[in-house]
Amino acid sequence: MEIHYLLALIIYICSCNEQKVSEIQEVEETHLEVKRTYVTSLVILGTIQDAGQPHIACKKQCCVDLFENPDKDKQVISLGLYDKSTGKKYLFDATPDMPRQMKYLKEFGISSENEMADGICLTHAHIGHYAGLMYLGKEATDAQNVPVYVMPRMKHFLQNNGPWDLLVSRKNIVLNELENGVAIQVSDEVKITPIKVPHRDEYSETIGYRIEGPNKSALFIPDIDKWEKWDKDIIEEISKVDYAFLDATFYSGEELNNRDISQIPHPFIIESMEKFKDLSEQEKNKIIFIHFNHTNPVSDPNSKAAKNVLDHGFKLGKINDIFEL
Ligand SMILES: [Zn+2]
Ligand SMILES: [Zn+2]
Ligand SMILES: [Zn+2]
Repeated sequence: MEIHYLLALIIYICSCNEQKVSEIQEVEETHLEVKRTYVTSLVILGTIQDAGQPHIACKKQCCVDLFENPDKDKQVISLGLYDKSTGKKYLFDATPDMPRQMKYLKEFGISSENEMADGICLTHAHIGHYAGLMYLGKEATDAQNVPVYVMPRMKHFLQNNGPWDLLVSRKNIVLNELENGVAIQVSDEVKITPIKVPHRDEYSETIGYRIEGPNKSALFIPDIDKWEKWDKDIIEEISKVDYAFLDATFYSGEELNNRDISQIPHPFIIESMEKFKDLSEQEKNKIIFIHFNHTNPVSDPNSKAAKNVLDHGFKLGKINDIFEL
């Protein structure tokens, strides 16, 4: 064999090996099975109430198996947004499950170089909705200048209380102040509007978001007191959008030992279904229930409760489901 030919063969074999190595690395980086979308879209990154599932100290059937065998589909409530016009990604709420959710978002739409979201939009200062910010600090990824969108009280809370103030002073995050009802144009195609809602506001206001894409729009309200307590009419708000992701923490009083549900500050699913019962089929179809407490029977798609919701024309949020905007 001629020496040149031999050399060429060795180089060829080496380059094949290299290619194999990089293929393997790629697979290792994308073990998440990410559903594809090629247009500006939202994705559900989690559906569970703040405390997650298994729920600490739970002795009930809902969590009994999950301490030993966690279910990766039980992630705390969050939405991801892919803006096709800029390639940017936005996270709605920073949950305790944020590491997986951020990785999913990185691969959603087009795969980003950036491990961090291009913006994080927070709703309020309850653990399921902002505690994930802890992963942006020095003990974790030590992020740089991640834009975080917040209302004024939430901003004050993060700036003036540890450990969050360190994220601000070390510039892991940059706080962008929102104003109730005032839209932020994140690109030519996407607009985000914070909408104040009633909730127990110990440390911050609570907001939902209207998210408008080039063709469709969505309402995201993970936490709210009863619909009647709101100064807006939820039915009118639903009529303005194509998708409405709504607080469905509890299904009925049954899961709470038949406590008086009128005293518990969330719209129960049975109350919401009653309120929305006269809506047209098309309007009902926009409603996607989310933010399930670990006790909520609708988490199990085979439950009577889940079937009842679907039979009445409503939807149940499912992790990784995509909604084109
Ligand atoms: Zn919550
Ligand atoms: Zn449980
Ligand atoms: Zn809350």
